[in-house]
Amino acid sequence: MYFDKLNTIVIKIGSSLIIDEKKKIRSKWLDSFVKDIQGFKKAGKRIIIVSSGAIALGCKKLNLDKKNLKIDKSQAVASIGQIELMNLLKKNFSKKKMDISQILITLEDTEVRRRAINARRTLDNLFDIGFIPVVNENDSIATSEIKYGDNDRLASRVAQISNADCLILLSDVGGLYNKNPKVHKDAKLIKEVKKIDENVFKIANKTTGEYGSGGMLTKIEAAKICGLAGCKMVISSGLILNPLKHINLSKVCTWFLPEISKLDARKKWIASSVSPKGELMIDNGAIIALKKGKSLLAAGIKNIKGNFDKGDHIKIVDEKNFELGRGLSSFSSEEISKIKGQHSDKINKILGYKTKSEVVHKDDMVGFSK
Ligand code: GLU
Repeated sequence: MYFDKLNTIVIKIGSSLIIDEKKKIRSKWLDSFVKDIQGFKKAGKRIIIVSSGAIALGCKKLNLDKKNLKIDKSQAVASIGQIELMNLLKKNFSKKKMDISQILITLEDTEVRRRAINARRTLDNLFDIGFIPVVNENDSIATSEIKYGDNDRLASRVAQISNADCLILLSDVGGLYNKNPKVHKDAKLIKEVKKIDENVFKIANKTTGEYGSGGMLTKIEAAKICGLAGCKMVISSGLILNPLKHINLSKVCTWFLPEISKLDARKKWIASSVSPKGELMIDNGAIIALKKGKSLLAAGIKNIKGNFDKGDHIKIVDEKNFELGRGLSSFSSEEISKIKGQHSDKINKILGYKTKSEVVHKDDMVGFSK
């Protein structure tokens, strides 16, 4: 029902949809999925596919068990499996006369603004020439500290960067239930979520572990990132044939429907960072000032957490640790620890060099009205 009005759609498919537990390619499913995409393309939609499966297909090729794989080995396996994955997708899309391309992303490609803009430009150029970009994390290069680790959050960041209208997470579960459907027979499907609050996270937390790769928690985190960017998201079972048609017909799925975001593209990018490097705790006076549209000054900062550099993403929290907003810091954490609580006219003297006085400039901040 919702797809008619949507122009740019990101579709994430998990490894378990491409290959089954017996390491057999799910060819029939793949064929039906590609057919669904063809329908979208004919309707003039811009499609991005975020596909997992590099490690699973690498394991298939080398006859290895995914569960026993150490991180460095899995990086090598991903490098082998990624071309298997692309070959498989290319073969299937070519049959239906559609062209695909490959984009491998590391965390920094989306978290550094300049690189995110570059990625956006590449996607736009691919749309212009009618190709369908297929995105995956660059598992062979990314190391654990600087890794998405799951394609749910990666897909949500891709949706935000490409200014997509909708992210479809095809998963091995039909949506978000009020309790774990695999344990409780009376579990009820939640069909629509308008606000992602603590309660939604609690439900997801309870059900995590029973689902495939990313788990329900990463899916809710993805919904939050999409929501901040004003992008709809739907979780639906990908295991059935024609999984996209199924979303429209059966309505067994969970839609996350955020309010329309009034933020510009840059602020959307700030709001939906997946890896804030630290936190600034601010006092009530600063909260009032920020709500009036002012920048955050050192005087209002009570405490600081994390190690970060100038320009890094940070969370802004109140004295109860409740997240109020996000921003880009104009100072490193080391500098802020020296100037916190101090008036702006003392900053130059404390630091020993001339610098600006806003710790987070209003143009680099989201979460406060105005
Ligand atoms: N990037 C991983 C792969 O291609 C999958 C990550 C995930 O399933 O979320 O194997």
